[in-house]
Amino acid sequence: MNINCEMARDLLPMYKDKCLSPSSEAALRDHLESCPACRRYLHEYKARQKDDVLIPPGDFADISRRLRRHRTVTEIAVGAAVAVLAAYAVYKTLKQGDHS
Ligand SMILES: [Zn+2]
Repeated sequence: MNINCEMARDLLPMYKDKCLSPSSEAALRDHLESCPACRRYLHEYKARQKDDVLIPPGDFADISRRLRRHRTVTEIAVGAAVAVLAAYAVYKTLKQGDHS
């Protein structure tokens, strides 16, 4: 059985999980042997899967710490914006008071 690149890439997830029928797996192996692009695709696919699954606990703590810090920065920025608006409102009010 000959398969093209599109079919080969469709089969890769099942190939990786060893869910392919023997004939499909043989066809995919044949294709991978003759197709450097799909070999690279499989390599990248595996690497991506590994990234998705393996997040060490330290990394996760770091990510949540970074998110918290980001939230703090956002709160400071919003607070500063509100303070500027409030100061501007007071300034406008005082200026209007001068005219009347
Ligand atoms: Zn291919």
